[in-house]
Amino acid sequence: MSSQGSPVKVYIRIRPTANFAHELIECLPDQQTLRVWSKKGKRNNHQSSRLFQLNGVLHNASQEDIYDGVAQSVVLGTFGGYNGTIICFGQTGAGKTYTMTGAAETYKQRGIIPRALQEIFQEVADRVDHTFSVHLSFLEIYNETIVDLLSSVKHGKGSHSGVLTVVEEPGGGVSVKGLSLHLVHNEEEALNLLFEGEMNKIIGEHALNKHSSRSHCIFTVHIESRSRTLSEAKYITSKLNLVDLAGSERLGKTGSEGQVQMEAMYINKSLSFLEQVILALADSRREHVPFRQCKLTHALKDSLGGNCNTVLVANIYGEGTQIEETLSTLRFATRMKCVKTKPLINEHVDPVLQVQRLEKEIQFLKEELSMCNKLSNRVSNEVLSETQVEEVRSQVQRYLSGSLVEIPIVSIAQIQEVFAQFKKVVLEQQTKLREQLCPRNARVEKAMNTTPFTVAEALESVCAVGKVESFGYGLGLAEPSRRHRREASPKPSKGRKDKQISRKEGALSQWPVENTTVEAAQPLNMSESDVTTQEPQRQDPEQQHRTDSPPPKAEAFEDFKAERGSEINRILKENKAVLLDRTSQLRTLTDVINVTKRDLDNITYELQLFRERRKSQGQFVSAEGEPVMEEAELSLLMQLKKLKNRYRQAYEDLRCTKTEVSYCQHLVNQCRTRLLTEFESWYNESFLLPDEVLSVLEAGPVRPGHIPVDKALALMEDDEEHGDAPCHKLQADSSSAVLFYNAYNRALQRRGSRQASQSPDSVRGSRSKIKLSSILSIIR
Ligand code: ADP
Ligand code: MG
Repeated sequence: MSSQGSPVKVYIRIRPTANFAHELIECLPDQQTLRVWSKKGKRNNHQSSRLFQLNGVLHNASQEDIYDGVAQSVVLGTFGGYNGTIICFGQTGAGKTYTMTGAAETYKQRGIIPRALQEIFQEVADRVDHTFSVHLSFLEIYNETIVDLLSSVKHGKGSHSGVLTVVEEPGGGVSVKGLSLHLVHNEEEALNLLFEGEMNKIIGEHALNKHSSRSHCIFTVHIESRSRTLSEAKYITSKLNLVDLAGSERLGKTGSEGQVQMEAMYINKSLSFLEQVILALADSRREHVPFRQCKLTHALKDSLGGNCNTVLVANIYGEGTQIEETLSTLRFATRMKCVKTKPLINEHVDPVLQVQRLEKEIQFLKEELSMCNKLSNRVSNEVLSETQVEEVRSQVQRYLSGSLVEIPIVSIAQIQEVFAQFKKVVLEQQTKLREQLCPRNARVEKAMNTTPFTVAEALESVCAVGKVESFGYGLGLAEPSRRHRREASPKPSKGRKDKQISRKEGALSQWPVENTTVEAAQPLNMSESDVTTQEPQRQDPEQQHRTDSPPPKAEAFEDFKAERGSEINRILKENKAVLLDRTSQLRTLTDVINVTKRDLDNITYELQLFRERRKSQGQFVSAEGEPVMEEAELSLLMQLKKLKNRYRQAYEDLRCTKTEVSYCQHLVNQCRTRLLTEFESWYNESFLLPDEVLSVLEAGPVRPGHIPVDKALALMEDDEEHGDAPCHKLQADSSSAVLFYNAYNRALQRRGSRQASQSPDSVRGSRSKIKLSSILSIIR
């Protein structure tokens, strides 16, 4: 194999122990080298030792150090389109699963996978110029059979009931045919799947570690990202493989028999094939690498020999009794260091979008070319036929209504006709608007006889009687019965208790009969979009406990508008529409007044000129000697009168419309304030735990499915001091901790209910404190 590329990074992690064998294992100060002395130890006169130099030796390192030092760069690389693989290797009990998944019951001890998921969704949120889709898959290779650990989860794509097989893909990659892929939108959904898969693992009892996994597990995050700003046809994909291998100890040492012995045999076989593959990859002269000898090496083909950033964590015991296995793990790790991969960006072009883009470009160029030809020949005396004019008219209509995206350019005559048609439309609109302004009074009378709660109608009435204040607030009061019906079907929130729902309904039944505190609570100039940035209202300290994972405010606000606040939102929308309509009427009226005023001035001036001229010529008199008015003067006078009437009428309308606009503005402001205030109370109500639940939580075990922030924080503090950690990190951590515990507790809940259906007696007692591993062993 070629030796060009970037070498696989290899780290050693030593499991902490009180009996660390200092006489056998020495960590050198460069923190990259491990010296292992022969069994007789340093003090023996015939000393012999071996040096193992790697990318890092991690002794007594915390989970956070491991993630930052080993995994973070690989995880972030996936956002640049690079595949990444992190593999944990080592004997049973050395800490592979602890490194990869961590201790599920303690947030601070969570491993690489949960931390990677947190980082991924943080990045997704930060990179606003891209859209992302994140899918997860989780497989296990047990006795040479691939098992889908997420087959129990519905809505996975790509899954089928047949045998799962590794298949080669055109670009040299591999994938598992039949493995389910699950779309996840946030960290919590991803953690749910992780814990679901963990529960589904097949656990074997074993002499070294009772709960050790006897299978290889590969958790994969598939990321696809598209730029919002650059060419939409291009996109990048990447895969992050997180591999927890089965224990690498020798068969004889485990003392196992029967089924477990067979498992150990399969494990030994696949790991020895893995070693063969690594030897072949490390040897630049080897042409063939036997990836297909077993499922494990085949599934890891593109992680080991492909375009991937690959990291190996070799987990070892620091104890003297395990020195043989430690040496064997270290030898494997050193060999792995010689393997080189070629990380490449996985960039793709969406063929359908690309074809669409090119077709559009060709069309545009064709039009440009035809225009050029026509302009250079100056051929513009073409006359359009009636049918052609009709076609242009229809195109303009469709273009304005939005059903036609663009009007293709054909000729200069056609362009001129397009302009002519546009002008026509504008003039028509102007006339229509003028006509609309006249028959107002009839509608006012009609509105006076109806319920005043529809804002549009209320407005009409207000204009007629000039009593704006007498209508109260005019919002949402129209149909109380309908509003109550809507409240009876509140937006369901995950894991919320009936009690809370009834509390919310209680809160909402006080809904807006009177608007007494709205102004005090929210300033009128606040906009709905402010909801995203506003802090929740201050609460009674006792009510400060929030429920688990409140949704982002912007999202909750959308939900609120669609469900609970739909009526008020509808009214707000209606009011806005009326306001818009009235404002545009006001504008048109102003125009009309200005034009009329100009015409009036012109006619007055003309009349004045006419009279001066007449004066100089002497006055016309009738046969009876009466002064006679000329026809031209009469016509001017008639016009003047007409214009004055129009001016007066328009001025009256303008005054009326102004009142309406200010009243509408007032109502819109009130609706908006009401919507925001209601939303704030709903949000606070909805995501608070009821007091009784809080007291239960404070007194005893954790209720599955709900852990409040302060509880999570307390749990976090169990393990580590935050010291000078920056404040924002603490906040991010606390919400992430809540997600983590929620997902974990939900997994426990699901497991509990499955157990109950299998054996009702086995699940009694406190569930929240049971460790995941012990539950799993009950199941088996
Ligand atoms: P493996 O997966 O290699 O068989 P595990 O990860 O299950 O081993 O570890 C076995 C036990 O040792 C677990 O209870 C785990 O919590 C504990 N353990 C392993 N490594 C560490 C560590 N670095 N710090 C604390 N506990 C550890
Ligand atoms: Mg394990």
